[in-house]
Amino acid sequence: MFDDKKDNQSPQRPEPPQNIPPKANKAALAVFLSLTVLFGALFLFNDGSKSKSIPYSAFLSYLDLGEVDSVQIVDQKEIEGSLKSADGSMVPFKTSIPYVDLDLLAKLKAKDVKVSGAVAGASPLQILFELAPWFFGFFLIWVMMRQMQGNNKAFSFGKSKAKRYVEPKKKITFEDVAGQKEAKYELLEVVDYLKNPQKFSKMGAKIPKGVLLVGMPGTGKTLIAKATAGEANVPFFHMSGSDFVEMFVGVGASRVRDLFDQGRKNAPCILFIDELDAVGRTRGAGYGGGHDEREQTLNQMLVEMDGFDTKDGVIILAATNRPDVLDPALLRPGRFDRQVLVAMPDVQEREAILKIHMAGIPIADSVDTQKVAKATPGTSGADLANLVNEAALFAIRKNKSMVEMEDFEDARDKVLMGVARTSLIIAEDEKKATAFHEAGHALLHYFLPNADPLHKVTIVPRGRALGLALSLPENDSYSKSRGWLFDRLVITYGGYAAEKIVYGQTTTGTAQDLRQATDMARRMVCEWGMADTIDPMAYGQEEEPIFLGKEIARHKDYSEDTAKKIDDAMKSILGKALGSAMEILARERSKLDTLAEALIQRETLEDADVKTLLGIIPLHVPAQAARA
Ligand code: ADP
Ligand code: MG
Ligand code: ZN
Repeated sequence: MFDDKKDNQSPQRPEPPQNIPPKANKAALAVFLSLTVLFGALFLFNDGSKSKSIPYSAFLSYLDLGEVDSVQIVDQKEIEGSLKSADGSMVPFKTSIPYVDLDLLAKLKAKDVKVSGAVAGASPLQILFELAPWFFGFFLIWVMMRQMQGNNKAFSFGKSKAKRYVEPKKKITFEDVAGQKEAKYELLEVVDYLKNPQKFSKMGAKIPKGVLLVGMPGTGKTLIAKATAGEANVPFFHMSGSDFVEMFVGVGASRVRDLFDQGRKNAPCILFIDELDAVGRTRGAGYGGGHDEREQTLNQMLVEMDGFDTKDGVIILAATNRPDVLDPALLRPGRFDRQVLVAMPDVQEREAILKIHMAGIPIADSVDTQKVAKATPGTSGADLANLVNEAALFAIRKNKSMVEMEDFEDARDKVLMGVARTSLIIAEDEKKATAFHEAGHALLHYFLPNADPLHKVTIVPRGRALGLALSLPENDSYSKSRGWLFDRLVITYGGYAAEKIVYGQTTTGTAQDLRQATDMARRMVCEWGMADTIDPMAYGQEEEPIFLGKEIARHKDYSEDTAKKIDDAMKSILGKALGSAMEILARERSKLDTLAEALIQRETLEDADVKTLLGIIPLHVPAQAARA
């Protein structure tokens, strides 16, 4: 079944017409030629009118000589008439009257000339002649526009410019994407659906319309989107968010419409919108109002997505590295309601990526891929692809037939220097500090009675965080006990405490943790009545100012005295939490060192890995009364 589908969609299939077909071109040429001939003829005809034009003075002389037979005064500006020639025949003439000649009528009467008057009636031919240059001009402009539409995309305003991604000789599949297990797993459902839409619709199952790939630049979002199309064997339409944004109002919206039309025509298929944040930023945020054109484009996109039915067999993928700035409307159910994280690679994944890109290149035995992977922390898939290419170039420069380890070392220095400027490349000691910081967060999970179990801990950077220790909530409770909140605070201070214990000082990497802890403590005191020293009341009201974007301001509706009490209560809670974190980590210092060392080596550890490593039997007591 896929074979005949493939035939249908082979690249030879005619694209939707974007140029004017040759036939239309010929017709335009014919019209153009016949019009030219017509106007040419008119021009000649008009110029070759039968009456001879003579000067007014000459006319007066003829009049004096009595040779004028009859005249017709047209609009008191022109005289047409006939002259008697010597042989008695009449010769038509015309002349214009240059001044108001009051004696004219008397002179004509004296010579007994037949006089009549007339109003200049424009003949249809004359009208045509006068309008001719206009017609001609408009026609030329029209022809030019058509031509440019054909040849120059810049003039095809409303067209989507969506590039249909023509399969290279070898189709891109998930095999070409190293690592990214979670992302692939999520997208496999999309692949399944595109391969067999009926299966899903029969069961009444809903497939997400839009999937948003979120990840830092170079992590392979575009690659994995293409691979999804390759796996499903469907056409892939690629368009970048910035392509929608033009200076002409309404162009973006019309391009969106066109893109979705193409999708409908070619279903089943994948529409891919790269850099979604270029169009999808929150509307009306910030001072000075929004950007009309962009808002219109975004609105059109929302409308199109709503008007879509997944039954149509069109899946919309989008990519962004700034999901935080996206308009919330884009993320609502029925739009990009599924987010897939495309993460930075860890050591093993880096090795796998290197191997993929080394596949087509002669590599000497001396090259230790694992070592290269270890030496490139904080690099993305794109950086690594670049690294392999640079290494090959170094080898070529030295006239070698194989790429050797030293070429990789040279390439690494070159690439990482570039990377250091653009993204996060982590120095060895910074990596170590991050490892201790994250180990501090992670370790505390095992020594606090009310904490959720650890999910995993990583020092692979994500977003702006250098690392991450993720908890796995046991159950989805929406209401949290004071005990849980306090233990959460202790864990949040874990990074800070570990840095303090190991280095005696802390880094700026703690900023986010401190903000989180402070925020949580404030809510415990002001919203949840969890401080003993202050009456359980709701202090302060949150309001969302319209013009400040999403910053939340707290409206102070309590006295200075109460403010002091709130501060004291928060300080007390936070102090206890930090004290607890310091105490536990100092006590378990050897475990902290072991865990940090393992993180430096392996970068990511799961809960089970940590338990085996540290020989921990988890202390886990179900939710309990407060202990703060
Ligand atoms: P993004 O769209 O996230 O910025 P790209 O998909 O454009 O990143 O990735 C750029 C290049 O980096 C890809 O073409 C590919 O060569 C390489 N690359 C990135 N991630 C991977 C990966 N997981 N496996 C193999 N190659 C990768
Ligand atoms: Mg990309
Ligand atoms: Zn931290």
